[in-house]
Amino acid sequence: MCRHAAWLGAPRPLAELIHEPEHGLLRQSYAPRRQRHGTVNADGFGMGWYDPGLATPEPIRYRRSIPMWADANLPGLARVARSGCLLAAVRCATVGMPVEESATAPFTEGRWLLSHNGRVDRDALRDLAEGAESACDSAWLAAAVFRRLRAGCGPTPATATVNALGEALAEVVTGAATKDPDARLNLLACDGVTLAATAWGDTLFHRPHPDGVLVASEPLCDGPGWQAVPDRSLLLATADGLRVQPL
Ligand code: GLN
Repeated sequence: MCRHAAWLGAPRPLAELIHEPEHGLLRQSYAPRRQRHGTVNADGFGMGWYDPGLATPEPIRYRRSIPMWADANLPGLARVARSGCLLAAVRCATVGMPVEESATAPFTEGRWLLSHNGRVDRDALRDLAEGAESACDSAWLAAAVFRRLRAGCGPTPATATVNALGEALAEVVTGAATKDPDARLNLLACDGVTLAATAWGDTLFHRPHPDGVLVASEPLCDGPGWQAVPDRSLLLATADGLRVQPL
């Protein structure tokens, strides 16, 4: 399982998901505490954020196929990359999956970013995942979700968007799990103003803050307030709050 984390709220630097918390993604890349499959996440990392100074709603994405700790430029970049919507991930490649940049989360299309913790038989997605950028199962899942989003929504207001994101994740996860009952399908996605995540076979936590919410595979620190999301749930967060519903 890989590990991922996201923030939605007042603008913060990506370092607050990665370097600053004691158990941020940097530490989780070599010493995750709740990981059920795999021991280190050294097969790549990535992050995405939304710069309000840009004319388009698309995120900026940075990803590498090297261990997070091996990128000496990352701490400086993560300190200045600030946004009200952040997503980052570290990867432990599933056996048989390629280790390459295009297999590394976050995947992106349009204004969406997406990360996956888990594994799925690609046959379960064969009809849905046209145009995946890598043979990696996570890239196939991303292609399936993006395709569903493209079909289901245009440039919609935030309330419609959160439903669209949540509905797309729910549909792809439950559809893939029907075809591959052993699949582990923890997805985390955002569009700049909303976050959606699934818990399906691996851990997921959220932590409310006065100015936003953190969502992560496992707590980024030992501070209070981290709440576990029950397995087989969908989490949706917007500026109006957060809700968790069964899948
Ligand atoms: N199956 C995905 C990959 O190979 C995700 C792996 C994971 O969650 N460890 O990248």
